[in-house]
Amino acid sequence: VFSAANVPQAPEDPLFGLMRAYRQDPFAKKVDLGIGAYRDDHAKPWILPVVRKADEILRSDPELNHEYLPIAGLPQYTGAAQKLILGADSPAIHDGRVATFQTISGTGAVHLGALFLAKFHPLRPAPTVYLSDPTWANHNQIFTNVGLQIAKYPYFSAQTKGLDIDGLLSTLLAAPAGSIIVLHACAHNPTGVDPTHDQWKQIATVIRERGHFPFFDCAYQGFASGDLARDAWAIRYFVSQGFETCVAQSFAKNFGLYGERAGAFHWISAPDAAATSQVTTGNIASQLAILQRSEISNPPAYGSRIASIVLNDPQLFAEWEEDLRTMSGRIAEMRLGLRQRLEARILADSSNIINGSQANWAHITSQIGMFSFTGLSESQVKVLREKWHIYMTKNGRISMAGINSHNIDYVAEAIDSVIR
Ligand code: PLP
Repeated sequence: VFSAANVPQAPEDPLFGLMRAYRQDPFAKKVDLGIGAYRDDHAKPWILPVVRKADEILRSDPELNHEYLPIAGLPQYTGAAQKLILGADSPAIHDGRVATFQTISGTGAVHLGALFLAKFHPLRPAPTVYLSDPTWANHNQIFTNVGLQIAKYPYFSAQTKGLDIDGLLSTLLAAPAGSIIVLHACAHNPTGVDPTHDQWKQIATVIRERGHFPFFDCAYQGFASGDLARDAWAIRYFVSQGFETCVAQSFAKNFGLYGERAGAFHWISAPDAAATSQVTTGNIASQLAILQRSEISNPPAYGSRIASIVLNDPQLFAEWEEDLRTMSGRIAEMRLGLRQRLEARILADSSNIINGSQANWAHITSQIGMFSFTGLSESQVKVLREKWHIYMTKNGRISMAGINSHNIDYVAEAIDSVIR
């Protein structure tokens, strides 16, 4: 019999513990580098100007009501989300090979895809899901919660602070045929390291050779580089190569709609004879609808309405692209600024560097998106927190969004002091 008394206490999510400690710290110059959301130059949340506009348009609509959305979501939204991720001229969309469901942001999209694969994958047991090492911590529990086995593929090289492409390829080659491979479409979380186009092609070749299934998680389109097409390149490449694939898409970061939970799950069938792939896609959509119904019934309306207004209006869309460039541009500036400050300090006093590999900070600018894997050790992270009141996860990941023109000198001084 079930007894609530037997339920053990779960460990605290390390990120939430970090956030709590930061909030409780009374030190005036404290810095939050754990934050997973964009902050402006004053460390404040930023409502995108185009989102403010869309909000006004939405509120002035006399037809607006609070009815349920369809199970698959707002059609103008899911249609625009498809075009955004695959490209407006995508043959997959044209051929009717894409099934799209509005989800509870990116998390809900990953979950819906995981649940679908757990339930409908023809192999029993279902194939193992390969996650990058490291990855967004939530991937582990989302896939295991639906009963799938998980394994790791090497991703980050501690030596180069870049991609371990050899380790990645050899592990995918050795993985059982037909494995599920989760790929971060851009701005890899937590490392900020993305494959080059050439490396993506090598990854695609191995996935093809082994009959693996590529599962894309795209939480940072446009936020990473400021260019929506560039950040979707890997997904579009795989689709152009005729892979059957799926994509979890989030509008949390690129619209700053974190709490509104606007996302989408796309299933892209392989390009068989057009009629066959349309039937396949329709069947998949019908099953996704049942899963969606049992999980959330209908997705939330507000965030999707905001995104839909912007995505479907060329003028607002252009303004959104400008906002994306503002966010990604500020982050790129902070990357460069931090690197320059650290290198200048190291150059000015090269007498007592403790760890030679920490003399090079080029990875700060070659990594992309919200996060950077600094290479700081757990003990250095601890000193940064206890002595300098600078908070980051213990793997040395920093959120570039937490750095601004007011604290960048302080952060550089602190990091410089702990690497000596
Ligand atoms: N996937 C990755 C890799 C992420 O970094 C995030 C957010 O941090 C998500 C998915 C999902 O975020 P959300 O559910 O807020 O869209």
